[in-house]
Amino acid sequence: FIYIGVYDIKDRNEPVGNMCDKANMAIKCMKGNYQMAVAYYDEAILEKELEQKKLIAEFDRALENNEFCVYLQPQTDADGLCHGAEALVRWAHPKSGLMSPGSFVDCYERCGLIHRLDEYVWEEAVKTLRRWTELGRSDLHISINISAKDFFYLDVYEVIMGLVEKYKVDIKNLRLELTETAVVNENDNMEVIRKLHDAGFIIEIDDFGSGYSSLNMLKDICSDVLKIDREFLRETENAVRSRDILEEIIRLSNRMNMTVITEGVETREQVDMLTDMGCRVFQGYYFSKPIPIHEFEDKYNVCLLYTSD
Ligand code: C2E
Ligand code: CA
Ligand code: CA
Repeated sequence: FIYIGVYDIKDRNEPVGNMCDKANMAIKCMKGNYQMAVAYYDEAILEKELEQKKLIAEFDRALENNEFCVYLQPQTDADGLCHGAEALVRWAHPKSGLMSPGSFVDCYERCGLIHRLDEYVWEEAVKTLRRWTELGRSDLHISINISAKDFFYLDVYEVIMGLVEKYKVDIKNLRLELTETAVVNENDNMEVIRKLHDAGFIIEIDDFGSGYSSLNMLKDICSDVLKIDREFLRETENAVRSRDILEEIIRLSNRMNMTVITEGVETREQVDMLTDMGCRVFQGYYFSKPIPIHEFEDKYNVCLLYTSD
């Protein structure tokens, strides 16, 4: 497959090396996109490149200074009763303020740093589970995100098992969220997931329905929970079709004895519609945005139960 990067020369005195770098930057932007063969360099590309370099340069300091922090978003039933939470990373950047993972996770996945961030987030999640256990709240779980790239750099089984043993938390309370990309056509990863599942971890398929091979994958992977991609709830002109697909996914999951969690639930109407379809667990702004751990503990009375015990 041939990619062509074009740099329009404005200043003939610019070093040729620079010109080539810029044409190459344009190429980098479309790598992996098989629908594009030609890209033109513009200043936005340079800005993006510089931004990424900055993210990479700042990573070690940020990790060392505990600038990354874990937020929790509840997973509830239709009445808002909390069953557990998903751990979502945030970056409390000293200059830029609170940054969402959307602005750095992709970059760290591409440059091979995500496993170090994930290891940190996983440990924070397990520490929180330890505290909850001591507070008598071992009924609550935490789901952590595992990136496809983590399997490349880490022995995911050893790391996760090591954390659970170190902090002595119940395996059932640490849930593992994986996207299809981590498993599709990756037999080694599939084997690791099978080992984790056999050890007792609950495996959740994240963003279900957003990839290309969802149904095929369901056949091969041992998973307990399907998290339906929030795209299905987005208002589009295909609302009826989206609803039909949602309903069938929920029916299929129930038939396969899998729990369904619908993500991105923002209105009561959506909760009612999904409940009618057979969904029992929800995650979305309607119930709560992701919030800092201590706020989560206050909101869901994690500590209160302890004091009244
Ligand atoms: P995700 O795993 O699909 O997480 C759900 C995302 O949906 C979160 O975005 C959450 O804030 C957002 N969300 C939840 N409810 C609603 C809603 O009702 N409406 C809308 N519009 N959005 C909702 P967030 O926290 O920005 O995270 C984005 C993505 O970054 C995550 O998507 C996940 O893929 C990645 N990510 C977050 N934390 C980590 C992490 O610790 N490790 C790795 N590898 N990836 C992470
Ligand atoms: Ca997730
Ligand atoms: Ca998701």
